[in-house]
Amino acid sequence: MSVSFRDYYEILGVSRSATEKEIKTAYRKLARKWHPDLHTGKDKETAEEKIKQINEAYEVLSDKEKRAKYDQLGQNWRDGQDFRPPPDMEGFHFYTSTGDGAGASGFSDFFETLFGGGSPFGRATRTARRAGPARGQDIESELELSLEEAYRGGEKSLQLSTREICRECGGTGIENNAFCRRCGGAGETAGARTLAVKIPPGVRDGSRIRLKGQGGEGISGGTRGDLYLKVKLLPHQVFKVRGEDLETEVVLRPEQAVLGDRVSVPTLDGPVLMKVPPGARAGKRLRLRGKGLPYQKGRGDEYVVVKIDIPERLSAEEEKLYRELASLRKGV
Ligand SMILES: [Zn+2]
Repeated sequence: MSVSFRDYYEILGVSRSATEKEIKTAYRKLARKWHPDLHTGKDKETAEEKIKQINEAYEVLSDKEKRAKYDQLGQNWRDGQDFRPPPDMEGFHFYTSTGDGAGASGFSDFFETLFGGGSPFGRATRTARRAGPARGQDIESELELSLEEAYRGGEKSLQLSTREICRECGGTGIENNAFCRRCGGAGETAGARTLAVKIPPGVRDGSRIRLKGQGGEGISGGTRGDLYLKVKLLPHQVFKVRGEDLETEVVLRPEQAVLGDRVSVPTLDGPVLMKVPPGARAGKRLRLRGKGLPYQKGRGDEYVVVKIDIPERLSAEEEKLYRELASLRKGV
């Protein structure tokens, strides 16, 4: 994406040393000449484009701070030239503009690169005030939840680090012809907010919770944007999540697996006694119906995967019995 340099002096037809009064006079003359209401058809389109450029040029050259900033770029630029912010300009804060042509503010990309306006949090510049109130940007953030928190839902307090429009300079980054001391010219400062977030029961990994009006600040009295919290489920020690189903393991001793048993297994609602049928092989998946996660049509299931382990130490009696088993198996 390229940004075209705008020669504001050329647009207003004044010299680089023009006084405030000369600039004002030139602007008035041109604004009258190119007023869109005085033109029709194709000329009207031209007039609308012209008046935009004239307004933008006047916005910069009539403002001491903006003019000083603009003048720093030097005289070697020509109107329409491909503009790339000079890398060697120390202390100069350039903004990334959002696209080619005019941005949301109605000003050119070049203007926005120089003075902002494409910031995700909006920017209370004079430009923005003139353009009227604008809604703040939507923000997305991550919300880490344990499986239990996601299952039960409820309220959780969340610390959110934010970027707020600088109160000292109102977001312009410039004060008294110098970079704002509070924000260093960025126009924004870091802040923190604590939010109480209502978590709907059964919320899934990756789903988004919307907090209306908790996003970026609006411009010139515009409403705040929304905050979207993307749920990230933390890994769980006992359960794996598979869609609406859960998976866990149960460890059986050999004789439990052979003969069957009733064993205690964890669920999100607490431990339950599960029936293990005789002859449960390692890897067999036993289902606990309706012990998974809630979804639109009800609740998922919990799958309990059988693992078989042997006792660490055998009593003499147990060992004797295993030997008997072994001799019984010989020749089968
Ligand atoms: Zn500031």
